[in-house]
Amino acid sequence: MHVRIHRLVGLGVAFGSAGLAVALDGSAVLAFLCAYPGATAPDWLEIPYGERGATRRPVIPHRTLTHFVPLWVVLLGVSVWGLTQAPPALINLLASAALGFACGALSHLFLDLLTPLGIPLFSLRQRYHLDRFTLRKSKPAR
Ligand SMILES: [Zn+2]
Repeated sequence: MHVRIHRLVGLGVAFGSAGLAVALDGSAVLAFLCAYPGATAPDWLEIPYGERGATRRPVIPHRTLTHFVPLWVVLLGVSVWGLTQAPPALINLLASAALGFACGALSHLFLDLLTPLGIPLFSLRQRYHLDRFTLRKSKPAR
């Protein structure tokens, strides 16, 4: 999926995560501000290096660990749990930021799920993609 689409959807998700943060007595501003970079995080967390173009390679192989859904679901769950525990102010701010970041990242993963390359849903060894509302195994990467 193209980075512009991730950014656009991330902007929309930022509003949603801000609303969720408010509902959980968190910081709407931090959730909003962190959702936007979170929407592109699974790609830039791969740490691409080298010149732009065909020779550019990531440190972490594309669509592996940073696109692993359970990691982001755990971050979302921990942040929601943290916000529901009436935490001290600093923890509240961190949980709000993590909530927004995780929501943005999960939007990224959903969009990548719509592409034939897919994402690792349940295991790092197998990617899946959505094909007309049907979950299918993706072909292994070269
Ligand atoms: Zn991606």
